Amino acid sequence: MLRGGAYDDALPPKGYALQTLDRLSYSLSRPRVYASAGDGRSTGEFVPWFCLQGGGGGVMGALLWSGHWRMEARYTPAGARMALGLSNFEHLLAPGGALQLPRALLLGFSGDLDEAANALRVWELRYLAPPIPENWPWVQYNHWYAYEGDIDEARLLAEAEIAARVGCEVFVIDDGWFAGRRPDSYVSWWGQWREDRSRFPSGLWGFGERIRQLGMRFGLWVEPERVDMQGEVATEHPEWLAARDGVPITRRWGDEIAGHLCLGNPDVQDWMASEVVRVVHEYGVQWLKWDYNMGYAAGCNREDHGHQAGDGHYAHTMGLYRVLATVRESCPGLIIENCASGGHRADLGMLTHSHIQWLSDYTHRAASCRRHVQGAGYYLPLQWLNAWVLEGADAYEFRSRMGGALGISARLGSWSQQQLELLARGIAEYKAVIRPLLSGHRSLLSSPWHEGWDVWQLCHPRSGEFTILAFRDPSAISSVRVAPRSISPEEDYILMNLDTGESFQMHGKGLLEISVARHASVLLIGKLVS
Ligand SMILES: [Zn+2]
Repeated sequence: MLRGGAYDDALPPKGYALQTLDRLSYSLSRPRVYASAGDGRSTGEFVPWFCLQGGGGGVMGALLWSGHWRMEARYTPAGARMALGLSNFEHLLAPGGALQLPRALLLGFSGDLDEAANALRVWELRYLAPPIPENWPWVQYNHWYAYEGDIDEARLLAEAEIAARVGCEVFVIDDGWFAGRRPDSYVSWWGQWREDRSRFPSGLWGFGERIRQLGMRFGLWVEPERVDMQGEVATEHPEWLAARDGVPITRRWGDEIAGHLCLGNPDVQDWMASEVVRVVHEYGVQWLKWDYNMGYAAGCNREDHGHQAGDGHYAHTMGLYRVLATVRESCPGLIIENCASGGHRADLGMLTHSHIQWLSDYTHRAASCRRHVQGAGYYLPLQWLNAWVLEGADAYEFRSRMGGALGISARLGSWSQQQLELLARGIAEYKAVIRPLLSGHRSLLSSPWHEGWDVWQLCHPRSGEFTILAFRDPSAISSVRVAPRSISPEEDYILMNLDTGESFQMHGKGLLEISVARHASVLLIGKLVS
């Protein structure tokens, strides 16, 4: 089982952490229950995913669903029994009627968990995820951790010029761009997605053009499912709000209250799709970050939305899929970044409609970023797993965010020339060495005995080239011996240390001794001896 992606600053982090149940130590009589978060977001607590292992292989399963779900794990004398599906759900089906239930996947595998995840990610890229562009994932700049919502055109353009110079490929304006947005409010004017000309005198289209001239793509954040209860949308269309037993479903931020639109209502679907398409076309958006900071709890049970009383949360999720499909159809080539307060809705249902996943709002500690990517990589393609560099300007910090999609969120204008050169070198290293291997095989070579070490191996799917990235935390032992995988045991390999330029030879079935300084990393590139 995997924990979900809720914000946590613990170490080791709880986010995307594996949880195991051992048949020998687990009672046969009690089922263990895992579920979506109480607010309805699919991965706030756990991920709807499991892996059963034994006898040199196993079965991996997942629900492709972005709303309420429940999973029961139980051991019986006949073996393990897993039940996974919708929860808190009632729908009266008329004779002859049909209902589309969430899809589920089952993957039988031989080998271990890494080999199962490698197979799953290949399958997802081929059959589930939207097509991805070349040189994916693009290195992203996002201003959020540098300035939050305190942004304007001049400030962001100054950052954009530096971001382009160090090698960023997309520049994303996060929350803070729309008219009426107050720095002290996370509610006011939500739902009215119009540009703020007082902050962006050239308009967002003009700003995006400047970004494109700098050689990057232009990205923009939105949160379409949430509205200001005092705002235009909620006051003009109170019938669009999700409600439970006659009371609107809300979330409080300080003294203010945000409402939740119900996408079980086809009118709301149509409005949201056309409004998001307008934002994309009018502002020249190439990358749309879709946030979702509140859930619908038990779900809407209004009688005038077209859904039934017991299936409001189901209807909202199906409506969301329809809106996302419409937006993608109307905006060919648009990249969609999935975000829900970080990883609260990071499931395989959203994977079918998005190109990248903001993993966790806790992107501060290097070791946490590595563990998040390690765990989430068991069920999502590595290219989806986005973490950002904040302030630490050294190779250890940069590489700790390279297990998936690399991003930067810092005041680059205050970095020294030397720090910016290091960052540019790190981004170039990512593009040349790591990124081409993200669609290949990943093996975690570190073991529980190597506490404080994270050792990853990424292998090219065809050429046999591979990379080993090793990280040593301050408290860890000084060196480890690891056994590289997915390479031929009969061949010799030459390994080059990218930092020192030194090379050495290794046999395919030999052990590799890795030794690095405290709080440092090493990047080795391996090739067959020709
Ligand atoms: Zn409803």
